[in-house]
Amino acid sequence: MTKRYTVTAALPYANGPLHIGHLAGAYLSSDIYVRYLRLMGKDVIYICGSDEHGAAITIRAKKDGVKPKEIVDRYNAQIKQTFEDLGVSFDIYHRTSEPIHHETAQEFFTNLLKKGEFTQKTNEQYYDESQNQFLADRYIKGTCPKCSYDAAYGDQCENCGSALSPTELINPVSTLSGNTPVLKETTHWYLSLDKHADWLGEWINTGQLDGKQHHDPKEWKNHVLGQCRSWVGDLQPRAMTRDLEWGVDVPQDIPGSEGKKLYVWLDAPIGYISATKQWALDNNKDWEPYWKDKDSKLVHFIGKDNIVFHCIIFPAILKAAGGYVLPDNVPANQFMNLEGDKISTSRNWAVWGHEYLEDCKDSIVNHVDVLRYVLIKNMPELKDSEFTWGNFQELNNTDLVGKFANFINRVLVLTNKYYEGVVPDFDASLSIAGSEEEGSTSSYQEELNRLHHRLEELGKLVEAYDFRGGLKALIEIASMGNQFLQFNEPWKLVKTDPETVKVVMNLALQIVGALSVVSQPFLPFISAKLRDLLNLSALENGDLEHLLDDLKAGKAVLPKGSSINKPEHLFTRIPDDVIQQQIDKLEASKVQKVSYEPLKDEITFDDFTKLDLRTGTILEAEKMPKAKKLLKLKVDLGFEQRTVVSGIAEFYKAEEVIGKQVVLLANLAPRKLRGVMSEGMILMAENAQGELVFVSPQDGFGNGFTVR
Ligand SMILES: [Zn+2]
Repeated sequence: MTKRYTVTAALPYANGPLHIGHLAGAYLSSDIYVRYLRLMGKDVIYICGSDEHGAAITIRAKKDGVKPKEIVDRYNAQIKQTFEDLGVSFDIYHRTSEPIHHETAQEFFTNLLKKGEFTQKTNEQYYDESQNQFLADRYIKGTCPKCSYDAAYGDQCENCGSALSPTELINPVSTLSGNTPVLKETTHWYLSLDKHADWLGEWINTGQLDGKQHHDPKEWKNHVLGQCRSWVGDLQPRAMTRDLEWGVDVPQDIPGSEGKKLYVWLDAPIGYISATKQWALDNNKDWEPYWKDKDSKLVHFIGKDNIVFHCIIFPAILKAAGGYVLPDNVPANQFMNLEGDKISTSRNWAVWGHEYLEDCKDSIVNHVDVLRYVLIKNMPELKDSEFTWGNFQELNNTDLVGKFANFINRVLVLTNKYYEGVVPDFDASLSIAGSEEEGSTSSYQEELNRLHHRLEELGKLVEAYDFRGGLKALIEIASMGNQFLQFNEPWKLVKTDPETVKVVMNLALQIVGALSVVSQPFLPFISAKLRDLLNLSALENGDLEHLLDDLKAGKAVLPKGSSINKPEHLFTRIPDDVIQQQIDKLEASKVQKVSYEPLKDEITFDDFTKLDLRTGTILEAEKMPKAKKLLKLKVDLGFEQRTVVSGIAEFYKAEEVIGKQVVLLANLAPRKLRGVMSEGMILMAENAQGELVFVSPQDGFGNGFTVR
């Protein structure tokens, strides 16, 4: 018997914003699952947080010229906000930079060392001489020996999912410098994965653990099992430490620990445990049952690139540490593509969560739940999938507007029209047309049973991690409702048989009431809005379980005599131009191939010294009338003030530039522009797209000084 659920979602690297591929991978799936479990009254904890170690962070920091801490602080805050705004309902969103995590990860390391799980080995590893750094993991790239993908990392090929070590890469290069690395000796701790091969093999293949059935491997996805099976046959010792400056220290009391950090894939999954500890501290609970009681069901939601770490390495660590439960399932998703191409952060080919949310505020793309709907509908559960804006529009207009919202709206409109918004009393012995087949006869009770059955079926799909199936079942309930109205035609019948119409409308209201509950895991914001329209209180844990019990007992969701509010549109049609804007934005965001201007003819130093460049501050700025590109500026040079007409209005608003420090070409002959005498020129840099930015001295540098 499952007493409690421990549900984790992959820790995102805090090195960039979230895109739709992340959301459709580990996050919406886990959120649906957890929201459903909560509605079924289960004891569940939902864990996530930022992974703030690893090469992805330090490489980004190096690129931006800042400290890793700055990168993780920035993106942790942004990612956390994006999740919240998209309704992803973690119980805790933690950070692996927190002291409680460092302590927990170090305890694991010390414990495993004491148990003899590590062997210390000295061998040659790739080293970048120009950067004085050993190259492991993402610091080194090369061709995958398994699939020939030419950008495989030192720890893993993201194309075929194989776990690699840097020495296996063909033609390795340093990702820090692009140089070919040299080999140099270093000493590390290796987890003896080979020692665990037997039980891991049995556990993966048969679901047996310590002579007992642990889980049913048939419930695992084929692509997950396939990857696992290809690894368990060939398990090698794996280094669990690195020569790095950023990460969790190897505990200082261990000889040889100096300069060594824990491998990020040792520390990151332990992050789930340290996050649970923090949650327990914050909520006055005990963390241990969630990780150590055999009646706790542990489920890891991840993308397919993390399968080896969650199905092989972390289970080996948990088992070796002793006393921990192992995952009951790891329902990894595959990847989502975008408009026919792989989502790529480096090529900026992505739909970003925070940008979508911005567009929602201006109601450009309608509603947060539309994105959730489209991503769930196309969730890459079993194979790679595709997001297109055309499909986004179509699903919104047909499914959400045409089926879901249409049914609800019809019921609310008719209830307000016929009964002034009061749920009608009715005679349950009257027969009505059945919802499933045209021309069939049914009864109120029979239709309630049908609703009950459909809700149960939906639940089974969610429990089996078939979230696309669950979503389909949700829309089918609305379609069934629409069909039910169509077959009964209350708008005609109301003139001849108002008593039967009461049965029909009461039942339709019960379906709408049920939708307000069962839509919540998928469309939480719309569910809340619908509950408001129905005058129902906010959902609480156990409400779906109660609803199922009530329906089974023939009890209504919305009692007769209760009143509902005036209808409001839950979703609205998205017109073509809005979709075109999104497509244009996507195309424009592609990093364009830069064409550089050719160099000008050589000049002498004397030529250069003829230019009198001075620092100045913009005191005033106003738009020039009838000139789209021009701003009229007053620039303070300290010893005098100049009027300058500058062609920057497409890139800067007048109020933005006031107070800016600039560099002015001060001895340029004055000339009249649109009737204003311009006394100098402000230096700007221009990129390949023709965008302009100021070339500015540091703020507060002062005015009137020369630039040379
Ligand atoms: Zn590969």
